[in-house]
Amino acid sequence: MSLQNSKFCVTCHKSNIPDLKLCSKCRVVRYCSRKCQKKDFILHKQICEAIDGELNWIQNLEETFKSLKIDPSSKPVNVWETHIGRFSELTDYRDWSGEDLLTPHDRFPRGYLGWRMTYSYLIWSLADRYESYEMTETYLSHLLETLRMDAADVNNVKYRLPLIFLLLGKR
Ligand SMILES: [Zn+2]
Ligand SMILES: [Zn+2]
Repeated sequence: MSLQNSKFCVTCHKSNIPDLKLCSKCRVVRYCSRKCQKKDFILHKQICEAIDGELNWIQNLEETFKSLKIDPSSKPVNVWETHIGRFSELTDYRDWSGEDLLTPHDRFPRGYLGWRMTYSYLIWSLADRYESYEMTETYLSHLLETLRMDAADVNNVKYRLPLIFLLLGKR
């Protein structure tokens, strides 16, 4: 697979034109015109909504991590300040918040790392389909961000990096 280096419209494949706009919902694919966007709607709709939904969920979780009770007797802490790089250590699956949640572990930082991976894979599936340098770079930035939050790398991000670096011609 060799990647398309320039930005392009995923419908008509025109590249190097000034007006290539990102889909405002997923912010991954680009179109040259409304017409091309409409033409792609049926194909794009499902993954676009999936990406948008994951992103909303991730952002919602990120908000709750600004005051997270990491054990029942502790005061809420901002884990963005206390646990960057150590997110997977926040592994307690019990729900201390008292909220009635079906799957409380999804709300904990370890679960969050998993959601981030799901989100990344959705972007990767588009990058792979369109063989796009730009989308592959976006995928890489999410992988690196996940690694930054969790140096212990419970999601095996490091295992994915060599292929992506190779595709992007980076070291
Ligand atoms: Zn087009
Ligand atoms: Zn979209």
